[in-house]
Amino acid sequence: MSDSFLPFAYFQGKIIPAELAKVSIMTNALQYGNAVFAGIRGYQTSGKKSSHIFRLADHYSRFLNSLKILNTKIPYNHAKLVEVTLELAKKNNAKTDFYIRPIAYAANFELSPDLSRLTFDFAIYMIPLGEYLPIHKGLKLMISSWTRINDNMIPSRAKITGGYINSSLAKADAVNLGFDDALMMTQDGHIAEGSAANFFMVRDGVLITSPRSADILEGITRRSIIQLAQDLSIPISERMIDRTESYIADEAFLSGTGAQLAWIASIDSRTIGTGKMGPVTGKLQKLFFSIVRGNERKYSSWLSKV
Ligand code: PMP
Repeated sequence: MSDSFLPFAYFQGKIIPAELAKVSIMTNALQYGNAVFAGIRGYQTSGKKSSHIFRLADHYSRFLNSLKILNTKIPYNHAKLVEVTLELAKKNNAKTDFYIRPIAYAANFELSPDLSRLTFDFAIYMIPLGEYLPIHKGLKLMISSWTRINDNMIPSRAKITGGYINSSLAKADAVNLGFDDALMMTQDGHIAEGSAANFFMVRDGVLITSPRSADILEGITRRSIIQLAQDLSIPISERMIDRTESYIADEAFLSGTGAQLAWIASIDSRTIGTGKMGPVTGKLQKLFFSIVRGNERKYSSWLSKV
């Protein structure tokens, strides 16, 4: 992944050079992790010198829901968020695939973390982004010893910055042990999701994913995959998944804006299926990448032209 960023950012109501978009060390969100964010992908349209953004409107619906869960607001409605994002993407005029990071953060210089007294500012930056996780190699995952944060702790369905320490711990331990990523379990020992992606597996031809009540972030990619499975007449089940059930799955993959659709070769050193990308995963991955490149008219409503 690149550490470079695209030249312009949206900050305090204006598009400005990204290197000038800075906050104080006294910012409340920096102390307490009280910010919500989104991660949205932009792709170059195949065969054209243009780009588009994947499910922009859906990302902002989740973003506003995250703020609602925190019982706070920003002075931007959904239409305005979409509008300023498209304006920024146009201005940055990316020539590669890219990633958009909107963030609403508690901007006060207050000591108290009392959300009821804090004012949230809104900003966006963009970076070039290719693969975040390898999509052709087959991921080696482990089950993390870190439990997934739950809904009454730090709500996992809200994309809150402070919650990501949970992902950071799981991911870093997995990488230090030689794995690509981790799967985290709910407090009652069912598979929730990856450190920054949702989990799917296939058993006996049925595509299975942890339900929305399993302390997951309700992934936009997850929802897209469920829709694609329905359109391809692949049976789909949203239900709790035991740890050992993942070991004996025929196929498994992660889905997410960063991960896209990345197949899993092993979990806790147990080879998944044949150790190669399975047929259901392959079918979904092929269609997914065709859609995000703008090659599937049927799904063109998922793309916003920059
Ligand atoms: N779970 C977590 C914890 C994530 O950070 C992400 C990435 N946003 C996902 C799942 C996948 O969500 P989406 O498909 O909306 O990117």
